[in-house]
Amino acid sequence: MNDVTDSERRARRYVARPDALISIVAPCYNEADSIVPFVAAMMDVIKAGDARYELVFVDDGSTDDTRAQLSALADRHSEIRVVAFSRNFGKEAALTAGLDYAEGDAVVVMDVDLQDPPELIAVFIEKWREGYDVVYATRDDRGADTFAKRFTAGGFYRLFNKISAVKIPENTGDYRLMDRRVVETIKTLPERSRFMKGLFAWVGFKSVGVDYARPARAAGKSKFNFWRLWNFAIDGFASFSTAPLRVWSYIGGIIAALSFLYASAIIFITLVTGVDVPGYASLLTFILFFGSVQMISVGILGEYMARLFIEVKGRPIYIVDEVYAGGAQDAKQPAKAAAE
Ligand code: UDP
Ligand code: MG
Repeated sequence: MNDVTDSERRARRYVARPDALISIVAPCYNEADSIVPFVAAMMDVIKAGDARYELVFVDDGSTDDTRAQLSALADRHSEIRVVAFSRNFGKEAALTAGLDYAEGDAVVVMDVDLQDPPELIAVFIEKWREGYDVVYATRDDRGADTFAKRFTAGGFYRLFNKISAVKIPENTGDYRLMDRRVVETIKTLPERSRFMKGLFAWVGFKSVGVDYARPARAAGKSKFNFWRLWNFAIDGFASFSTAPLRVWSYIGGIIAALSFLYASAIIFITLVTGVDVPGYASLLTFILFFGSVQMISVGILGEYMARLFIEVKGRPIYIVDEVYAGGAQDAKQPAKAAAE
């Protein structure tokens, strides 16, 4: 596709091509038990469909057998490529790399743990051929998730959609198909804090959801514990809304107005009934309360400052150690810089 410029890629849809190439992008972090079943399932999808496929695996600095397994697969199958990171950069960075390396006319991003059912790919492609630029999977049943996860995820999406200008469809993960021009557009977004679900929604385009029931993990265990999800949520808010920053002017205004009323009341009562000394408990409560309000607001400022700091440093989003492709191992590739 080297004869086409990036802006041309962004401008044109690829749907009409009969020999369309579909890229499957799958981030892998310590997934040694999931890779073989995943590739087997994908081979079934490939055989059943009429499209051409490539599989782009991103090894996100796994410490188990994942990389060895993936590179062996790349040796055997010419349609499999593996981008191996120099360390763990996180799923968002792995997805970013996958989009950078995918060459397909449409790109499907999915997890390797088979929680994103491969059968849906055929439906995605059908919708894509109908003319949708983005086809995303919507979990109509989160039965495989714990109650706590469902509850917190639901709360996150509701709050996010209230305070952010872009709306993320509820119960939607990363599992989706995107037309090449959507991928090219996402690749132009330069930020280092990559809350991908937000970026996917931010670029827009004609989108449609497809319902599915999310199964439990086929093997291995989830890489996202509570603390990681919590930070992920804060990343989402801070990347897509300035409301947490701006709300403090209003909170300050309201508190100032209340203080004024309270002060007037005290003056009035003192004038009518004389000086009243007791008040130690209420004084201490107020001091502590306003002290914490100030610390929370400074903390929130800090969240945004920390992200500014990360953006300003402009470090690459990920560093590639090796690329395994086409049966042969490429020479060491330099880290992809943001400018590319
Ligand atoms: N993943 C990754 N890097 C990480 C954590 C996870 O590439 O640092 C991958 C993981 O291998 C899997 C996908 O992201 O393919 C989703 O992870 P997981 O299944 O643990 O998340 P959950 O389904 O529990 O939300
Ligand atoms: Mg999973």
